[in-house]
Amino acid sequence: MLLADPGAYAPGSLDVCGDPALRRYWLGLFRRHIRTVVAHVAREHPEDPELHLRMEHAAARFLDHLEAVEVDPAARFDTLTLCAERERCLRAAGVADPFRRTKERENAAALTLLPALLSELDGLPVPDRLDALVRGIFAGNVFDLGSPATAELFAKGGTAFHDVRNRLRPRPWLVDDLDAFRLRFDRGVSRALVFVDNAGSDIVLGMLPFAREMLRRGTHVVLSANATPALNDVTHEELGSVLERAAAGDATLREGLREGRLETISSGGGLPLLDLRRLDPALVEMLARTPPDLVVLEGMGRAVESNWRARLHADALKVAMLKDESVARFLGGTLYDLVFRYEPAS
Ligand code: MG
Repeated sequence: MLLADPGAYAPGSLDVCGDPALRRYWLGLFRRHIRTVVAHVAREHPEDPELHLRMEHAAARFLDHLEAVEVDPAARFDTLTLCAERERCLRAAGVADPFRRTKERENAAALTLLPALLSELDGLPVPDRLDALVRGIFAGNVFDLGSPATAELFAKGGTAFHDVRNRLRPRPWLVDDLDAFRLRFDRGVSRALVFVDNAGSDIVLGMLPFAREMLRRGTHVVLSANATPALNDVTHEELGSVLERAAAGDATLREGLREGRLETISSGGGLPLLDLRRLDPALVEMLARTPPDLVVLEGMGRAVESNWRARLHADALKVAMLKDESVARFLGGTLYDLVFRYEPAS
């Protein structure tokens, strides 16, 4: 529905299997990461030793899977299939959502910062506001417990929104279409479909202020989050609750919800990446009925790893902070480079 050329679409940008070094890199990364999830669950749920055992069991099964693909030169996999297998092992072992508490805590913390951030943004002249909103998206997006680099940063307390926003790389970013997008944005967007990424500062301090700016400009905004948990990505259910709490303190969001100009819909996904061929049927139906003129893909997984080459029927924004060395290299950059790609509809 969204894809300009569905036959040519593949939700994987990196050829992980075709490059022995990349193959080793990703298998090693997934192996290290699942161990950090075991430690995370033990830390976050000291009262539930049963859960620790289930988590260890899930990790053992996932490590078996990594071992099996590692020794099989014919095995085909990429970051999407490895993420899917990790979630499958978690669910099979009875681990519903290892990051639920962290997400709740980060959502609550971010919501307390939201009113002051919105006043700050409202006080900026319009040309500066878009820059600040985009830098806010980048800064929020650093809350990512799927990347060892940012998970470590988070554990050390280094993902505080305002600090990160102050330390972002200056423009021009690695991919910087902000000026082209500004012209498009000022022309008016009638309907935006926004695939959001993480909970906490990402959704609350990055994406909601951007969505709110679109509402103020008369855009109908649809926010789409995962159906089921994946790492610290916000789920559709959590998004509803975050939005309600944010709207309690903000008239624009409140009116948007009341008037139906601000909606949420499940993407149908359950991964940090997004396969645009597998969207929730209700979303597919919505796309047929009311196609968006702007689609936003946020986060490295959705915007770069799975959809960098995707060409859409709508104008597209692909916005991400690059939190992995190999993904950064794929785009000719380095860790923490920033990507703001605007692609007019194909
Ligand atoms: Mg994420």
